[in-house]
Amino acid sequence: MSQADVGQVRDGYPEYMRESIAKVEATRAQRLKDGSPKAMTAEQREHVLQEWHPDYKADKKRALRVGPSKGDRMPHEVVDLLEAYPSIAASDIDLSSPDFEVQVLILGGGGAASVAALFAHEEGIPTEDLLMVSKLRHGDCNSVMAQGGIQAADRAPDSPAIHYLDVLGGGHYTNNPELVKALVNDGPLVIDWHEKLGALYDKVDGKYLEAHGGGTSRMRMHSAKDYTGLELMRVIRDEVRNVGITVIEFAPAVELLLDEAGHCAGAVLFNLETEEYVTVKASATVLATGGFGRLHIQGFPTTNHYGATADGLVMAYRAGVRVLDMDSVQYHPTGVAYPAAILGQLATEKLRNQGAEPVNIDGESFVFPLEPRDVEAAAIIRECYGNDKGVTTPSGIRGVWLDTPMIDAIHGPGTLKSRLAAMWMMWHRHGIDITKDPALVFPTLHYQNGGVEIDADARTTVPGLFAGGEVAGGVHGKNRLMGNSLLDYNVFGRRAGISAASWARANRAQTPSLKHVDAFAAELRSAGIKTERKAPMILPDYRREAVLERQLKILT
Ligand SMILES: Cc1cc2nc3c(=O)[nH]c(=O)nc-3n(C[C@H](O)[C@H](O)[C@H](O)COP(=O)(O)OP(=O)(O)OC[C@H]3O[C@@H](n4cnc5c(N)ncnc54)[C@H](O)[C@@H]3O)c2cc1C
Repeated sequence: MSQADVGQVRDGYPEYMRESIAKVEATRAQRLKDGSPKAMTAEQREHVLQEWHPDYKADKKRALRVGPSKGDRMPHEVVDLLEAYPSIAASDIDLSSPDFEVQVLILGGGGAASVAALFAHEEGIPTEDLLMVSKLRHGDCNSVMAQGGIQAADRAPDSPAIHYLDVLGGGHYTNNPELVKALVNDGPLVIDWHEKLGALYDKVDGKYLEAHGGGTSRMRMHSAKDYTGLELMRVIRDEVRNVGITVIEFAPAVELLLDEAGHCAGAVLFNLETEEYVTVKASATVLATGGFGRLHIQGFPTTNHYGATADGLVMAYRAGVRVLDMDSVQYHPTGVAYPAAILGQLATEKLRNQGAEPVNIDGESFVFPLEPRDVEAAAIIRECYGNDKGVTTPSGIRGVWLDTPMIDAIHGPGTLKSRLAAMWMMWHRHGIDITKDPALVFPTLHYQNGGVEIDADARTTVPGLFAGGEVAGGVHGKNRLMGNSLLDYNVFGRRAGISAASWARANRAQTPSLKHVDAFAAELRSAGIKTERKAPMILPDYRREAVLERQLKILT
């Protein structure tokens, strides 16, 4: 589409989109009267997933050729990373006198890391024996970006048992039941802890305002407007500071250390400012490095922060930990499709749980708004590419409308701005008022469903190494439901902190080494893997060839 075709922009949208918006407006009153389409049957869900969900495209995956999960199929982008060569060898790093020596080392600066640090301290690890290190600033993470809410079954007619069934159903019954049990049973305790820390959850008459999420059979979504993640990180990060836990920022871990017994003995960090390696010997290490959104699997844009490059997966894999369910990727059904400046950013599921319904170019509703995420995403892709009923943006991306003005029509004027203040502002900055006009959306890469194998106490199979949050797999199986990840980072961050503290009290790390990294590189070579790629990635590189070329010319 040429610039001439785009024409004028009115209230944020190109003129040519107005014809479709008029159809959405024309059908709104009838749709409000009729209600949304019914939820799909199990067979219909399976059908749309098989036909349209990106995970079901066999040619987008291949089997891993090395390591403990050898043979498992996963997206090419993940295999590329797990089969990349280490950036350091044992001979590069002097481990004879580590720069830091602590009882518990926490890798990450997000929710799971902060919660783990707090509970390791509560379990008796003094602050001088506890160290948190983060790739970016403390709090620059996915946790802070979470919008919609956190699930917890804390009142009748709900119960942890019902929550358990929802989580298993959402995950296609591939979850580890022990992890799900821990997740749902700890839910009410987590909310209570947040309340004590001073988190301001939405309430009516002193009671939590709880809503549905996709795939939930009870209203158990607790939220702080549509910036729940920010509110939770506000109180949790404050608490880390109040307690006085040391956090080293801009110092990503690049490899784990193991001792002769095969126990985790700390990590090697890379100081992004001085470009020097830093060594930390630790009796227990917690991996809380988050997910992989910035791998842009199958070219999808992402909702994730810049640090989401799967570093933890790479490090743990080389240390011998299996990865689970890496064949499944969560594409959030509603990422922003227009305007291009915010492409792929999240249009929270809360918009749908408050009444906004997806509609096509002709203003027709085509899917129950709160299907599980994978099903909802597949239905939107089918509407755009199978039924050819999407709206094409000036940059050639297709999307469907999320009919946001329905929220005020259902709940009364002012509701959207009050309950979804961050959403309103995100589009408003680009001249679009989502209380008046619908929002154009398309699926976006959102969440790493799988991850490193842990047990219910957040132990990995490497003694002394614990993991929690998005880096870990098994909790959500092959599809996470909304609100269960904030719960996950709290439940397994807490369990990881407690387990790490008790391990560190009983065990001292012996002489650390990087021999396992050399052994992994040898395995790559003997599998015939030839690549220049190095991992962990640390930061994604968005420079295109043209930009790189210009830089080289400047330098010469
Ligand atoms: C836009 C958005 C909205 C969301 N909304 C919701 C929601 O409403 N409800 C819900 O339940 N979930 C939601 N999620 C998902 C949820 O926020 C995350 O899955 C969860 O918070 C992950 O927590 P985490 O601590 O594991 O990872 P993160 O919070 O991402 O933290 C990982 C940390 O590790 C650091 N790190 C990475 N690599 C290294 C390294 N090599 N060394 C040291 N540090 C490293 C990162 O910089 C970061 O600080 C949302 C996610 C996004 C992106």
